[in-house]
Amino acid sequence: MQLPPLSENSLKDKVILVTGAGDGIGRAAALSFARAGATLILLGRTVSKLEAVYDEILSEGGAEPAIVPLDLCGATLSHYQQMAQTIQEQFKRLDGVLHNASQLGYLRPFAQIPEKEWQDIMQVNLTSQFYMTQALLPLLLQAPHASVIFTSSGVGRKGRAYWGSYAVSKFATEGMMQVLADEYANSKVRFNCINPGATRTKMRAKAYPAEDANQLKTPEDIMPLYLYLMSDQSIDVNGQSLDAQPKK
Ligand code: NDP
Repeated sequence: MQLPPLSENSLKDKVILVTGAGDGIGRAAALSFARAGATLILLGRTVSKLEAVYDEILSEGGAEPAIVPLDLCGATLSHYQQMAQTIQEQFKRLDGVLHNASQLGYLRPFAQIPEKEWQDIMQVNLTSQFYMTQALLPLLLQAPHASVIFTSSGVGRKGRAYWGSYAVSKFATEGMMQVLADEYANSKVRFNCINPGATRTKMRAKAYPAEDANQLKTPEDIMPLYLYLMSDQSIDVNGQSLDAQPKK
């Protein structure tokens, strides 16, 4: 997909929530969205990392973000409902959500996946997104145009040996996006997936410890698709699963 050029302030006045905003792709997305004029809600489990992103946004002259410390593994629907109420009170609007936080778990034979690992991966990578989307939908539906981006993976489109619960959670993420996109096709909220492709982060290094990370794209390199899908330039794009690094 050829992305159109984006204007400098493509996210001006938008309020956008990013999960896993303290590190890797989520951190780069939060900083990019702030540079494009958005006010960020930074959600993650390590407060010091979120504070570092908060400081960086302010030092660049961005709008003051909010920090939501939350471990998606333990959070329940009521946590997300409380968060939605706080966003309503503090910002009065929500224009976008980037569901980015995920856990890889361990690559291992399917027969050896521990029950707890399966449940934790499903909780963080899938169920938390179900709860969060349900809780935030009323706010998103009030926005003039809202964008919800889920994060997929190559193993969420074609299963691969040893990628077990992570791969299954990413297939389910694609499915959740498609159900929502179809159900809200006539609304002002759109739902899409991004497959980042191989990107230089801690998660990638955990999955491929022997690889030369310098050969990989950085999170900053893949931001054009994130910015496009979050901006009003993509208001007609719904139900798509797009590659941030399309094959040439
Ligand atoms: P990282 O591991 O670098 O970052 C993941 C982020 O999610 C971190 O900020 C982490 O917080 C947060 N997080 C993880 N678990 C939880 C939790 N239980 N509660 C709250 N926050 C949590 O991963 P990437 O940046 O590489 O990945 C981002 C997304 O892209 C993921 O969905 C991943 O599956 C997907 N992806 C990445 C690819 C790659 O090559 N990097 C390829 C394909 C897909 P903390 O730092 O505190 O641990």
